[in-house]
Amino acid sequence: MPDPSRLVTVPTLSQPDMAPAGSSSLYVLEPVPHNGSGLDWGVESGPMRERLLAFLEREGYPTDVVTERLVTPDEWQAQGMHLGTPFALAHTFGQSGPFRPANVDRRVPGLVFAGSGTTPGVGIPMVLVSGRLAAERVQEYAGRALPVPRPPVGATS
Ligand SMILES: Cc1cc2nc3c(=O)[nH]c(=O)nc-3n(C[C@H](O)[C@H](O)[C@H](O)COP(=O)(O)OP(=O)(O)OC[C@H]3O[C@@H](n4cnc5c(N)ncnc54)[C@H](O)[C@@H]3O)c2cc1C
Repeated sequence: MPDPSRLVTVPTLSQPDMAPAGSSSLYVLEPVPHNGSGLDWGVESGPMRERLLAFLEREGYPTDVVTERLVTPDEWQAQGMHLGTPFALAHTFGQSGPFRPANVDRRVPGLVFAGSGTTPGVGIPMVLVSGRLAAERVQEYAGRALPVPRPPVGATS
């Protein structure tokens, strides 16, 4: 992307013990295509590092780096993520809203999914909503599948 939306986090501002005294921890995230794009990260990671450093410098962050680690889709893929996609399904039109995989599977009644790969989507708030929706589906299923105890015939209350 020519003008990507980057996320910078400086956890040492609220948790100083995340770096040696006098230093900071910096985390920079830039969205990139997944490995279906054919990008060669052996070639791209050097220029990417330079672009990120230039961005940090431009925005006034410290760039006197002591130690660093660059993670690319290759590392995510090596961890078993399909095409190096830690963010699950992209929110393209065909994968959003009603087109996103549902949190129940009609073929296996009682099987309920939660997390970023199902509805409503990616990110901690969405995933928490997904957990609530999954709990509701389990409750609905259990309510149908498990016999609700009934009072014995003749009971008065
Ligand atoms: C680099 C990055 C930065 C992000 N930044 C933000 C942010 O700033 N704000 C935000 O809201 N969201 C952010 N997200 C998105 C957010 O982290 C995810 O959407 C969310 O964590 C997904 O939750 P999940 O429970 O679906 O999956 P995960 O959090 O990935 O949890 C799945 C868990 O299952 C475990 N697991 C996998 N396979 C097995 C197995 N076979 N057996 C047992 N356990 C297994 C994994 O180890 C993992 O712990 C970020 C994601 C990434 C990758």
